[in-house]
Amino acid sequence: MTGSFGVITMDGPAGVGKSTLARRLAAELGIAYLDTGAMYRTLGLRLGAAAADMDEAKLRAKCREYRFSLEARDKGGAPQLCCNGEPVGQEIRTERAGRLASLVARLPVLREELQRSQRALGEGSSLVAEGRDMGTRVFPGAKHKFFLDARPEVR
Ligand code: C5P
Repeated sequence: MTGSFGVITMDGPAGVGKSTLARRLAAELGIAYLDTGAMYRTLGLRLGAAAADMDEAKLRAKCREYRFSLEARDKGGAPQLCCNGEPVGQEIRTERAGRLASLVARLPVLREELQRSQRALGEGSSLVAEGRDMGTRVFPGAKHKFFLDARPEVR
């Protein structure tokens, strides 16, 4: 671990403002923000619905073709999520990408592979990790864990 904050986890259901808060907290502390939903969306788009019919070995091999990293594009800029060296962009913010993300997120092998890369990213630097299973499954040993919730009308 290079930074002094380690991993800070931010979990909660959809629509409670996790991303906004996690991004701001990361910026405030000067550490990376890891949007794990973006990782599921990226693999959903890259692998497509066919992922659900792949056998385990093939799916694992496919997942390993995609390497996630956090890279600052300009000096002093906030680290951005990249897949195979390319920044993950707005293409993942569509309804289709959201649907595919939820579909691939149900595949245990794919979850295992993404969780493995999330842990590796956390070993490399301090970060605010945002998702649904950050404090419980991916970084159970994190010192600072947040769980956000809100009443339905607020969401
Ligand atoms: O948060 P976002 O809408 O980008 O997440 C897309 C989908 O990825 C979620 O609906 C969920 O199915 C899945 N996901 C997950 N575990 C995470 C983050 C996202 O299963 N840690």
